[in-house]
Amino acid sequence: MKITKIETIHLKEFPAATWVQIYTDNGHMGLGETWFGPRAVAGAIHEIFAPMLIGKSPLEIEKHWRDMFDMANAFGYAGAEMRAVSALDTALWDIAGQEAKQPIYNMLGGACRDRIRTYNTCAQYGDNKDMDMAMLDAGTLAKSLLDDGINALKWAFTDCFADPTRGTSLKPGDLDLMCEPIRQIRNAVGNQMDIANDGHGRWNLNNAIRIGKAMDPFDMFWQEELIQPTNVESHLILAHELVAPVCVSERLVTKYQFRDYIQRGAAEVVMPDLIWTGGITETRKIANMAEAELRPVAPHDCTGPVNVFACAHICMNAPNAFIMETVRAFYSKGGFYDKLVEPNIKVVDGHLLAPEGPGLGTRLKKSVRGRSDATIEVTDEPATHDHWGGFTAPYEVVEERGRRFVRRRDAVPTTRRRSARSDKAGSTKL
Ligand SMILES: [Mg+2]
Repeated sequence: MKITKIETIHLKEFPAATWVQIYTDNGHMGLGETWFGPRAVAGAIHEIFAPMLIGKSPLEIEKHWRDMFDMANAFGYAGAEMRAVSALDTALWDIAGQEAKQPIYNMLGGACRDRIRTYNTCAQYGDNKDMDMAMLDAGTLAKSLLDDGINALKWAFTDCFADPTRGTSLKPGDLDLMCEPIRQIRNAVGNQMDIANDGHGRWNLNNAIRIGKAMDPFDMFWQEELIQPTNVESHLILAHELVAPVCVSERLVTKYQFRDYIQRGAAEVVMPDLIWTGGITETRKIANMAEAELRPVAPHDCTGPVNVFACAHICMNAPNAFIMETVRAFYSKGGFYDKLVEPNIKVVDGHLLAPEGPGLGTRLKKSVRGRSDATIEVTDEPATHDHWGGFTAPYEVVEERGRRFVRRRDAVPTTRRRSARSDKAGSTKL
């Protein structure tokens, strides 16, 4: 089985999204997704990574991840390159599952569960007004979620307080006012609802501590990214000061950035974003690193449906999977997932169900490629040159007659040169 073609799909209606489809010579098609900077992502795929993969076996996923990472790490790796790797890695796992006729979670070692608890991130789409309600009428929102069987939510309750001063200042009364939606939820439904706050990295450490302490009496589920994860020490201070667990989150890319946060206890809830941090391959390793430190993993979402499917496989497999982020405004009737994939994710009684069928368990709808707002780019040729010398050095170390030396790969071996000289007819084929 060989990879024959890789395409990226972009729709104007969803300006942040990129979908990747990898085709094989035996008829499989693997699906991946990433979010943000689609032109940069498509550039990384078609200029760098797709030519590396064309003609190779799609089953050598670890090797491909390593080759692509080594290439991306010629210039610091995180960014469009790792988003591209994340989408490609997901598509390779999809193919591997189809070839084995197994869901991906079985290829990761099998299922620890058949569903995972989910929480609602209160983004909104179409007629859904969850975001407005989270800020303006949070008690009603909490009752509505409980009616759907969902008993955990997350929102960025403090963003609008941070924006005027880039998180450097809190005005008198701000702490009380930013707690008002949380107070409304507690008044409306008591402790029936778990409440997480996402600071979106907008605060400095001093204000993050004040905000976390102000919210602690409400028994918060976690405090996520009150500060940006640019150093471990600040998060250790924050984790030490707050009762609520500190969640370190989607901005960390690959196991290398998660490593110190997990090992040193600065990430009390570990939240990798699968389609940014390196795909299924890397998210599984990050989950395992968290498991070794007795920390839960809660994959990040609020992007597209393929991410939720891929994360669902991690959540079924990883023993320490805690809860999965989803957005009911996106997956419910009237949301945008229905425009894109078939089947849609299934959330029942506040739980995301295990995907069914081989591979990821979903496909882009046939209608997606034919849309008038679609841009499809295709690569079907292998690499003709080496980028930065990143994956194949032009030299090799050889040993002949007990002597080791370096030569160019394209050099004619000395033994064959000797046999060529001895062929008097001059017809030796080198
Ligand atoms: Mg977040």
